[in-house]
Amino acid sequence: MRISQIFSKTTKNVPTDEQAINARLLIRAGFIYKEMAGVYAYLPLGLRVIENIKKIIRQEMNSLGASELLMTSLQPKETWEITGRWNDSVVDIWFKSKLKNGTEVGLGWSHEEPLMVMISKYAKSYRDLPISVYQFQTKLRNEVRAKSGIMRGREFLMKDMYAFSRNQKELDEFYERSKQAYLRVYKRVGLGPYTYVTFASGGAFTQFSQEFQTVTPNGEDVIYLDQAKRLAVNEEVYNDDVLNQLGLDKQALQTVKASEVGNIFNFGSLKGEQMGVYFTDEAGRQQPIFLSSYGIGVSRLMGVIAEHFNDKAGLIWPKEVAPAMAYLIAIGDRPVQNLTDELYNLLTDYGVAVIYDDRDVRPGEKFADADLMGIPWRIVVNSKTITNGQYEIKGRTEDLPEFVSKEALVKRLTGVD
Ligand code: ATP
Ligand code: MG
Repeated sequence: MRISQIFSKTTKNVPTDEQAINARLLIRAGFIYKEMAGVYAYLPLGLRVIENIKKIIRQEMNSLGASELLMTSLQPKETWEITGRWNDSVVDIWFKSKLKNGTEVGLGWSHEEPLMVMISKYAKSYRDLPISVYQFQTKLRNEVRAKSGIMRGREFLMKDMYAFSRNQKELDEFYERSKQAYLRVYKRVGLGPYTYVTFASGGAFTQFSQEFQTVTPNGEDVIYLDQAKRLAVNEEVYNDDVLNQLGLDKQALQTVKASEVGNIFNFGSLKGEQMGVYFTDEAGRQQPIFLSSYGIGVSRLMGVIAEHFNDKAGLIWPKEVAPAMAYLIAIGDRPVQNLTDELYNLLTDYGVAVIYDDRDVRPGEKFADADLMGIPWRIVVNSKTITNGQYEIKGRTEDLPEFVSKEALVKRLTGVD
């Protein structure tokens, strides 16, 4: 990527109403654009981060045997009336609209009910099950407060997965494997050490759901955390009975702020019974379908990563999600630029994503943008050192650069000799 050819612009103009650290940094670095409160567009570099996160999630969901699909944003009222969740006093974040003929439609804030209705048309027999499907979808929610940048959008990207099982045992096995897959996702995006399985409200059906909470000072949730057991309890269900039940010791718990980066639900047969979704088992009997559902806030995750990894100079992306591995700068005249072009082509041929700052601006400005954008490696080809065949390479959080040969540099970035 040559900076001159991609739409990317760092800026000092952050909207004055934007308080959240994640949004302020991401706007300055040119990763997102604020349309209005809680509504953000993703610019090319921001989209690359989103795509990197999606790639990791996709791999992990596929490893469970789930298949990707895409549901609709427009949803029929009747689907939600089955469970009573069309009612605005039951679900208070609906965006609703009307067709020209007056028919009411909802804008998808969740896809649980639509998926159940759809699956009921396909899974008639035990032979059709189990089924697990997932999607990446823009969810629309009329949130009261949207002050946490992309950590709370009125429009945001979620990965949601739904598993349809024949019995509790089959469901529980899938649930456990999914939980492990979720933990791998958080580890791979760099948040593993700060993310905890957390007991939270189960909604209307079950006592608990399990959340994945990342400890972060600007998180909107409060959790009680047992570091040693790597378990936590959300304040919404925290009480002595619950602690007893979970075998947690009050004295061992820390109270911390956290952000919910995922939430998984084991509904058993309750949702199937409620919605009247049944299948025929081996003995020819009608059985309710068993449902579990699994959500990850993809854009929230990006926000939490930005909140977690930054310093005075800007963002610090973990390598697995960084929009590029290296930020390349030439300091010198035409021959130096030619050498830089060569290096750019070489690295690109090796499949390394490089941002080549080919703008006609001062080196200091390029250094500042490299730091602000949080690219893991900064590479400088400088007329002073290149005469000895030395290339300058610096890690984003290191103070001083190293000077290395072209071969050593390529090896550092590719792992290839
Ligand atoms: P919250 O309690 O934060 O409002 P929720 O429990 O309503 O979230 P779920 O319906 O469980 O959210 O959605 C699954 C995941 O989607 C959440 O774990 C979270 O990571 C993400 N998410 C939910 N609401 C938002 C939002 N408004 N903006 C960004 N991400 C969100
Ligand atoms: Mg939740």
